Amino acid sequence: PAPVVAVVGRPNVGKSTLVNRILGRREAVVEDVPGVTRDRVAYDTVWAGHPFTLLDTGGWDPDGQGMQASITTQAELAVAASDVVVFVVDAVVGATDDDDAVVRVLRRSGKPVVLVANKVDGSSREADAAALWNLALGEPHPVSALHGRGSGDMLDAVVEAL
Ligand code: GDP
Ligand code: MG
Repeated sequence: PAPVVAVVGRPNVGKSTLVNRILGRREAVVEDVPGVTRDRVAYDTVWAGHPFTLLDTGGWDPDGQGMQASITTQAELAVAASDVVVFVVDAVVGATDDDDAVVRVLRRSGKPVVLVANKVDGSSREADAAALWNLALGEPHPVSALHGRGSGDMLDAVVEAL
């Protein structure tokens, strides 16, 4: 089977938008309402000759637990099922407590992480991306999932980690 790449992060950072960008088609459900991901979440794709299965995450019912517990549970499930993790942060907002909850899961897992600084729609946002070096997860890859900026370099880093 192809290696699995999970896209994780707190709600509304642009995970599903990024998945669609990578697929080159609109299959993952993008919503302004945080946490919406429905139906199929695994997609087979290929980059630079490397096939992999992409997992979109989010949208599980918080089920009575708090938002941060839900984010942690979702990240743990996705990370356990994956070979490489794409961790998406909203660079414009910066790292929040909910992002830190995901970071703790990633550190415990020991899995390779590609850090995406999303919503870097223009060069004026590059400094916001650089601020994410503070997460100590390596180089933040500045990306605009919405417009495609930076997505090729980010995918090169993903397939290098496979
Ligand atoms: P998810 O909850 O992490 O899956 O986030 P979504 O993909 O559903 O996106 C949440 C919102 O962020 C939507 O309104 C998207 O259009 C918006 N968004 C996603 N990526 C970008 C980006 O690169 N730039 C900007 N400006 N908005 C984005
Ligand atoms: Mg989503």
